[in-house]
Amino acid sequence: MRAVPNAVTPQALLRQEVLALHAYHVPPMSDMIKLDAMENPYSLPQELAQEIARLVMDAPLNRYPDAAARSLKEKIRAVAGLSEGVDVLLGNGSDEIIQLLALALNKPGAVLLGVEPSFVMYKMIAAFTGMQYAGVPLREDFSLDLPAVLEAVERHRPALIFLAYPNNPTGNLFDHDALIRILEAAPGLVVVDEAYYAFTDASFIPLLARYPNLLVMRTFSKLGMAGLRLGFLAGGKPWLEQLEKLRLPYNVGVLPQLVAEVLLDHHAVLERQAAQIREDRAWLYERLVGTVDVRAYPSEANFILFRVAHAGRVFEGLKQRGILIKNLHGAHPALDNCLRVTVGTQQQNEQFMVALQQCLHHWAES
Ligand code: PMP
Repeated sequence: MRAVPNAVTPQALLRQEVLALHAYHVPPMSDMIKLDAMENPYSLPQELAQEIARLVMDAPLNRYPDAAARSLKEKIRAVAGLSEGVDVLLGNGSDEIIQLLALALNKPGAVLLGVEPSFVMYKMIAAFTGMQYAGVPLREDFSLDLPAVLEAVERHRPALIFLAYPNNPTGNLFDHDALIRILEAAPGLVVVDEAYYAFTDASFIPLLARYPNLLVMRTFSKLGMAGLRLGFLAGGKPWLEQLEKLRLPYNVGVLPQLVAEVLLDHHAVLERQAAQIREDRAWLYERLVGTVDVRAYPSEANFILFRVAHAGRVFEGLKQRGILIKNLHGAHPALDNCLRVTVGTQQQNEQFMVALQQCLHHWAES
């Protein structure tokens, strides 16, 4: 007898929340100047690359990784300056940690609260883990609207609050004291997402000991390890030992562990690159601010948000000139006609500025 083809469709079987989602869009890699994803534009010094190559040659790829990643965690503790009472959980990128937190906390009716616009994965992950989501708008200048956040905290009693510090895609740091007020008012966990820590001096890590409901999340993606996929969560033992139960045992592979360890041994190299990026951010910001028809927003991260009259046209014009940035028009009403450029090498930044002038000029004339 011939098997009857199974006529079941994704629409019939999948959860409504999943069907309603739009996939996180990642443009295909190309030979364009890539200034869209907050990557570090620099490669590693030759000797360091060779040291990694030698270690990779001998890596035990037939074995599972150290599930507890003890040695890597020690190095992370040292570079992040974590004190004794603070524990660390590793993720396959910090995206995975956001997901793990949502999975752990999504009791029926539990709310994840974020501000808007911010990192889109908080809302997306709330949707696909089945958590309720509440978004509080930022002010017009993208600063935190503290009364509105406190009111939302009171109304929704969120189990989980995410605050990106500095914020993506706006680039600013929220007011430190306002975050403290939120920490004190929150009935649940507050995760300060320090993805861009390498480009600012501010951090909530020193406050971990004082606020038991505070967790600090970081990623090494922006520091030069985006390809490794490694992030971590730091916080009190009572929380982290529970969250560890949800972590898939081998989420950080042999190679990412090994390579990240070498890179953290040479942390100064990456720090120098980050310092260069900070300097170049100042250059790029001044140029953008001095450009007619551009409104640039100050940034403490490795990217700059700016607004133009016709974001779509400028984005396409830059693409035609071989430069890929991020078009945020349509992502959120507060981001109308906004574009986000990652700080690249000096040469890339200059090329970007020339191309941007051409695009603005071109459209102004037509
Ligand atoms: N948090 C913020 C604020 C981000 O902007 C990003 C990446 N764009 C992430 C977390 C996720 O980083 P990753 O998964 O590469 O660690």
